[in-house]
Amino acid sequence: MKKVPFVTKAQIEEIVKKYPTPFHIYDEKGIRENAKALYEAFSWNKGFKEYFAVKATPNPFLMQLLKEYGCGSDCSSMAELMLSEAAGITGKDIMFSSNDTPLEEFAYCEKLGGIINLDDITHIEAVEKSVGYLPKTMSCRYNPGGVFQMSNGIMDNPGDSKYGMTEAQIVQAFQIMKEKGVENFGIHAFLASNTVTNEYYPMLAKVLFELAVKLKEKTGAKITFINLSGGIGIPYTPQQEANDIYIIGEGVKKVYEEVLVPAGMGDVALYTELGRYMMGPYGALVTQVIHEKHIHKEYIGTDACAANLMRPAIYGAYHHITVLGKEDETCDYTYDVTGSLCENCDKFAVDRKLPKIDKGDYLFIHDAGAHGHSMGYNYNGKLRSAELLLKENGEVQLIRRAETLKDYFATLDCFEIGKKLTTM
Ligand SMILES: *Cc1c(COP(=O)(O)O)cnc(C)c1O
Repeated sequence: MKKVPFVTKAQIEEIVKKYPTPFHIYDEKGIRENAKALYEAFSWNKGFKEYFAVKATPNPFLMQLLKEYGCGSDCSSMAELMLSEAAGITGKDIMFSSNDTPLEEFAYCEKLGGIINLDDITHIEAVEKSVGYLPKTMSCRYNPGGVFQMSNGIMDNPGDSKYGMTEAQIVQAFQIMKEKGVENFGIHAFLASNTVTNEYYPMLAKVLFELAVKLKEKTGAKITFINLSGGIGIPYTPQQEANDIYIIGEGVKKVYEEVLVPAGMGDVALYTELGRYMMGPYGALVTQVIHEKHIHKEYIGTDACAANLMRPAIYGAYHHITVLGKEDETCDYTYDVTGSLCENCDKFAVDRKLPKIDKGDYLFIHDAGAHGHSMGYNYNGKLRSAELLLKENGEVQLIRRAETLKDYFATLDCFEIGKKLTTM
């Protein structure tokens, strides 16, 4: 699929007058259209709800945009619970899918009225200890083990993953919790990440729906929802074809009618916890070229670095790059596009075919809307950039300011040397 930036060079030249590069920018129109389509695709299911995976893009303004469509939030830490609360997302609009969980986080989730999705059977006791009782609605995360393979070769390895419980453990967990007064049950599984195929969700749905039927038969538990979690991917490369959420919705519907309806479970609500799919394509890292270097290879140096977007550095992930204003020029140069960290993996692109790049050019690094800014860090004393929202009316709204050196030194401010640094 051809990669087209959602801003032009002229727009960026205007924006940088107020907000210097590098920055992350999000496309309100794209976010809205995508959220609307997701809800349409699952409108056949009465209780459908998307719990946006906050970790992908933990910005309360974006969370509020999604809330307009009915989205809740999927949290996995204290900070994410607090962000959700601040964004006005509380009660059953919170899903708490955490693992290796500190006790006080269960209590905070319950205080907000959120749904706790247990990662481990021992967490039944942990919740009782933390909350003082078991909430009336509880969910369990499933790990079927083995490998999960789709026909296009995409494979993931649940057997090697730290998450979830075995089937026998969930049976036991449901029995224990039912005895202790839990009334509504849910199940959840996340078996493959960033799947660019319409096949994943229906296959996962079959696994979970069949488990739900078994659990109902074995434990008599009332299963009120099934959480298909995240994992629907996005096409990072121009060669990949995007998922079709309507085909995915229809695929899940077919399995729902084959497995759940005949078992008398046609009232089960479906939940999703998408992160990347909701935000990935609708955010970009915009950076300016500040340097070029010609040694054994051709290097283009930018004013951003892996601290702004670390996926290429840690996973070798591909992020498409458009040189703004040169969209139609032929890509007859080969560059490594780098950041300034003292780590050789700090390259946004390696051996990338691009048009001739000049100092001062703006690069639009695509698909940085999820796991982009959120994975930011301060290595080498680099500061996290601002986040901007390109509104539907063309205006730009600052939704997180850039860090300053004062922020960077803040954790030293209880010492004399820190006071000196923060006032320098
Ligand atoms: C990361 C995560 C998600 C979101 O995954 P995406 O691939 O971004 O859709 C959903 N649920 C849980 C529990 C997660 O850890």
